[in-house]
Amino acid sequence: MTTNTLYKLALAGVQQLVPYQAGKPISELERELGISHIIKLASNENPLGPSKKALAAITQALPELALYPDGSGFALKQALANKYALTPEHITLGNGSNEILELVARAFLAPGLEAVFSQHAFAVYPLVTQAAGATGVVVPALNYGHDLTAMLQAITPQTRVVFVANPNNPTGTLLSQAQLREFIAALPDTVVCVLDEAYFEFVGATDPINSIDWLAEFPQLLITRTFSKAYGLAGLRVGYGMSSPALTDLLNRVRQPFNNNSLALVAAEAALADFEHLQQTVAVNTNGMQQLTEGFKALGLEWIPSAGNFVAVDMQRPGQPLYEALLHKGVIVRPVGVYQLPNHLRISIGTEAENQQFLRALTEVLAHV
Ligand SMILES: *Cc1c(COP(=O)(O)O)cnc(C)c1O
Repeated sequence: MTTNTLYKLALAGVQQLVPYQAGKPISELERELGISHIIKLASNENPLGPSKKALAAITQALPELALYPDGSGFALKQALANKYALTPEHITLGNGSNEILELVARAFLAPGLEAVFSQHAFAVYPLVTQAAGATGVVVPALNYGHDLTAMLQAITPQTRVVFVANPNNPTGTLLSQAQLREFIAALPDTVVCVLDEAYFEFVGATDPINSIDWLAEFPQLLITRTFSKAYGLAGLRVGYGMSSPALTDLLNRVRQPFNNNSLALVAAEAALADFEHLQQTVAVNTNGMQQLTEGFKALGLEWIPSAGNFVAVDMQRPGQPLYEALLHKGVIVRPVGVYQLPNHLRISIGTEAENQQFLRALTEVLAHV
């Protein structure tokens, strides 16, 4: 068999699929350029690292590694249920919230069906849609954010899933809660609504997110959150979905029995209880956001106001060469050309020292192009 023949055996959606481009790992840049003191502000990770309590829980769980994990995730689900005044029947655990998005696609999408999402929205929505053989319908953005009116209009009888990222990655845009609730209430009964709140913990108090209150009213609503961002556990892969018991049941039917490893389960449970670490994380983010945007202002650059732990800045020229020049200065950021934002770079908020190192590198790079 030729490899060409092999490629043709794959499902049509898989043949066309362009894999997700992750942020460049520090180790890779070290190998490529032979430099050290690299900082990565490219994947919206927690610059403080994980909670000490999570690390202690992992150490304690190590001797049990020969045993399969608890496939029901009993303790973590119970902790989440307690935190959000839900029951474990409302909660789906995933290998990152990415897996929850995949479960939705597996349960509700197939060739001939459609998923609706916004331009500039998180890249995983088109990926899981296409892998399921379904058609992705991209709705043009409004001021870099979701145009909910247009998204509603894009829904057809074939639409089974609508993905909404709030705040959105990579733009950081935030929808008003009133607007969002109205949107969900207006959806036809043929559509599941995925509300991706991966950056929930960073959202300020002006218009607090209260989507959990809507779960009882909308059985087709799925809220996804993660331990990868504010909780600093991206390497362990834990995310969760919150939805009606019926929707939760459907997602669990297509879930692998041991999708979360045992260290991830205990670490997430401990991290959830470490309120101080979370508070510190949010404070570092708030200060860092101010530090970066003040730096942009001084450089005459505009940015998209962000509710997350990252900010997309308009470089007023193609971002890719600047990204590469920054790599040579040991700073990894994220070019967002694949998100149809060719002139922007997305910068994850780091520690004060990291932000400073980035701003210094950016200033040098801009002076030489
Ligand atoms: C980072 C991110 C996720 C998921 O990350 P996981 O590590 O899989 O939990 C989901 N949605 C958005 C918008 C993200 O930026």
